[in-house]
Amino acid sequence: MSEWLSVSETATKIAMGELTAFRAVDRFISRIRNLDRDLGAFLATDFDQASTEASALDKRRTAGERPGVLGGVSIALKDVIVTRGLETTAASKILAGWIPPYDATVVEKLRAAGAIILGKVNCDEFAMGSSTERSAFKKTRNPWDTSRVPGGSSGGSAAAVAAGLCTASLGTDTGGSIRQPAAFCGVVGLKPTYGRVSRYGIVAFASSLDQVGPITRTVADAALMLEVIAGFDPRDSTSLDAPVPNYSEALTGDITGLRIGLPKEYFAHDIDPEVRAAIDLTIAALRERGAQMVDIALPNTSLALPAYYIVAPAEASSNLSRYDGVRYGKRAEAKDLLDLYRKSRGAGFGPEVKRRIMLGTYALRSGYYDAYYKKAQQIRTLIKRDFDKAFEQVDLILTPTTPTPAYRFGAKASPLDMYLGDVFTLACNLAGLPGISVPCGLTKDSLPIGAQLLGKALDEATLLRAGAVIEAAVGLGAQRPKAVS
Ligand code: GLN
Repeated sequence: MSEWLSVSETATKIAMGELTAFRAVDRFISRIRNLDRDLGAFLATDFDQASTEASALDKRRTAGERPGVLGGVSIALKDVIVTRGLETTAASKILAGWIPPYDATVVEKLRAAGAIILGKVNCDEFAMGSSTERSAFKKTRNPWDTSRVPGGSSGGSAAAVAAGLCTASLGTDTGGSIRQPAAFCGVVGLKPTYGRVSRYGIVAFASSLDQVGPITRTVADAALMLEVIAGFDPRDSTSLDAPVPNYSEALTGDITGLRIGLPKEYFAHDIDPEVRAAIDLTIAALRERGAQMVDIALPNTSLALPAYYIVAPAEASSNLSRYDGVRYGKRAEAKDLLDLYRKSRGAGFGPEVKRRIMLGTYALRSGYYDAYYKKAQQIRTLIKRDFDKAFEQVDLILTPTTPTPAYRFGAKASPLDMYLGDVFTLACNLAGLPGISVPCGLTKDSLPIGAQLLGKALDEATLLRAGAVIEAAVGLGAQRPKAVS
């Protein structure tokens, strides 16, 4: 069935006239109607628009026009990605009803390549969380076991791809939000180098950490999607002006002589035995295919979590000050301006977002700045140096993506418990490096496990090359969540 085709298979079939874009899109529409009531991945859809765009593409093709590389490919977007004419809420009540007047750069690029946007998918409010339980609107379930979370914050993006409700999706990753839900849902999640992909039109959480990236079912699909969305954008001041390589060409299958570091601090951490066993098998498979495994040290690893949970909330407290009840979304009834701010923000933000704003505002207060924010930034430099040093010795670093597979709803009762699940993914963002999570097996209860690769800045090509080898050796193959296959 067309819903399980890869990005390139879909685009090729449509370009050859073996499948119409209309039929391909229609198939997703009926699957979303049938399956998403239980799964809860989508927040907003515009099926009429998607069908209209698909038929227009088919017509142009029959008239002799060549569709783009993503011609007719159905995509879901995390709801922090701004879409012209389609409600964008960041899963927050404060933005409910906001219809943006413009598209994010990544959306413009997807559309220019012929992609069809099916809709917006659920996430933790303002991307703050690791389970999608912090969405102000609904629960998204993990397609592999609907009593468990899909991960987060891009939980809707990962669940939709895993359940065959779209061909690929985009998420954002500030501290793991692409890689962790990809690991929990048995799909591929790529967080590009900071600056590789434009942040223009992305609802800001922590601007020095946020990156957009693809969530797909295969590594080759991630390569193709990155090729489309990457590149310099003058509208994002931190965008890197570096050429975009042909990532698909990097997938040679050859990793002979590649040096892969195993950081002892990560492996000393408490890791679920089944996750550990899957990573051990991954290591063995990589070695067998010619990679050289090297023990390395990243001594400041234990400081990544405390530093992240200062830097990210500090930036969030500043970014979220724009939601004042005047310019966007909900406006409360109020007697004066201050009252308007208080009431709009009080009613509009959920508890986790308020916690982050308070934490961040506290850390930035005069007199506290040196003790918290400045210190966290200094730690960030140390973490970056750890990686610089490690990358003199190795080409890539391998770790588990998460210490455990997907957990049940409500399992992480305290905020700290939730934060602790991010230990393996945060350092990558603090250092601005690229990272990928690739499925590397299932637990005995059929829960996916993810292997994480971290790379040098702008070296997504090597990440993808080794990722594809992991996929071929220990990936999930044609195994799919039973409930949706
Ligand atoms: N789980 C982390 C947090 O809550 C990361 C979120 C993200 O990457 N957007 O901040």
